[in-house]
Amino acid sequence: MAEILETDIVIIGGGIAGLWLNYRLRTAGYSTVLLERQSLGGGQSVRSQGIIHGGTKYALHGALTNASNAIADMPARWRACLKGEGDVDLTSARILSEHHYMWSRDRLMSKLTSFFASKAVRGRVEADDLEHRPEAFKDPGFHGNFYALNEIVVDVPSVINSLTSPFGDGIYQYDCAQHSSLELDNGKVNDLQLFGKNKRVRIKAKRYILAAGEGNESVLHSAQLQGPAMQRRPLHMVVVKHHYPHPIYAHCIGSGSKPLLTITTHYMADGQPVWYLGGNLAETGVELDKQTQLDSAKTIVKELLPWIDLGDAQWNSFMIHRAEPQQNAMLRPDSAFVHQSENIITCWPTKLALTPNLVDEVFAKLKQDNITPGAETDYNQLKFLNRPTVSQPVWEDLLS
Ligand SMILES: Cc1cc2nc3c(=O)[nH]c(=O)nc-3n(C[C@H](O)[C@H](O)[C@H](O)COP(=O)(O)OP(=O)(O)OC[C@H]3O[C@@H](n4cnc5c(N)ncnc54)[C@H](O)[C@@H]3O)c2cc1C
Repeated sequence: MAEILETDIVIIGGGIAGLWLNYRLRTAGYSTVLLERQSLGGGQSVRSQGIIHGGTKYALHGALTNASNAIADMPARWRACLKGEGDVDLTSARILSEHHYMWSRDRLMSKLTSFFASKAVRGRVEADDLEHRPEAFKDPGFHGNFYALNEIVVDVPSVINSLTSPFGDGIYQYDCAQHSSLELDNGKVNDLQLFGKNKRVRIKAKRYILAAGEGNESVLHSAQLQGPAMQRRPLHMVVVKHHYPHPIYAHCIGSGSKPLLTITTHYMADGQPVWYLGGNLAETGVELDKQTQLDSAKTIVKELLPWIDLGDAQWNSFMIHRAEPQQNAMLRPDSAFVHQSENIITCWPTKLALTPNLVDEVFAKLKQDNITPGAETDYNQLKFLNRPTVSQPVWEDLLS
């Protein structure tokens, strides 16, 4: 016989979206159960570059879209949380850089310089200021333009930790795409079944929220649910462990609308710096095998940062997908995506930065349906499940 467990909300997936949602729901008085297949943040979140975009990179061609306007509030939302003044407390999370930057290898064409001086980007971009430039760009060998963006870079594992620790009691390890976990009744979820060795628990909730990133597709599929379609955007990311002492958090822009290269700097457990390389390098590199991608990364780094010698650096690369709702012609989705069908909410933040926006949208849906806190959850009934740990950064596996 299965036991019945009541809770207000079930969340499937413990990435940034599921964990931020869980935190906000618990602080608002809802009871929740969050189920994570493997490790917390171990899908896209901990592998992201941690840039809290304000939309500037999407506005490179001068025309600010709704996308860039929707995302413009996000750095301020995150900064408030990092200061302990926002809707989640991220005071114990680490800021890697107070600014993300943009540089060009050569002096920019006048079209782009006037764009950076224009009303459209006012408040998002500060013009060049030699005194405040990061050390790496004070080198006399650098001759391009340089801008500070009103964007921060965060250490994602520490963010995941801050979101997890206050409400870890309701977080468990379970793969919800196995054993047809979601039991349906006329397109509505009746309950979510968890199978242990000698135990079966049916969780009954008011809403079932799918925040499983790329895994949303298989959770929907295993329950034979017709959810919103998903797209995967592949990236071939490069990691470099080296001894160059000055951190870089910046996009290099050329004449196109996408950054040629995006560099963020992280630190191994032993304190050694690691560059994490994305941007166009990662997008175009999906067709390349590892060796060819590493060769092209070395070439582009030499070309765009000729004054920096990485010496005997250790290089590696890996493939990953960004998971997003299906868009025409694989365009980047504009804002967080939240879709409801009956008592199932499926969501993708589409960017780490847009997570507060996603959570607002979910709360709006709960309010609209008058879903209020109420159920008492007895977590003792789930003692048979393991607890997931926070994922470690990919460079610890690839560069140790
Ligand atoms: C290389 C890369 C760099 C990026 N850089 C940035 C950046 O700098 N700034 C930015 O704003 N965005 C960035 N992004 C996008 C950002 O990382 C994602 O939009 C965001 O992390 C998605 O969060 P999520 O919680 O929806 O998904 P995920 O982080 O993928 O989390 C989903 C979780 O669900 C779990 N799960 C899956 N299936 C199941 C199942 N069956 N049962 C239970 N659990 C399940 C997974 O194990 C995972 O932990 C980047 C993405 C990539 C890939």
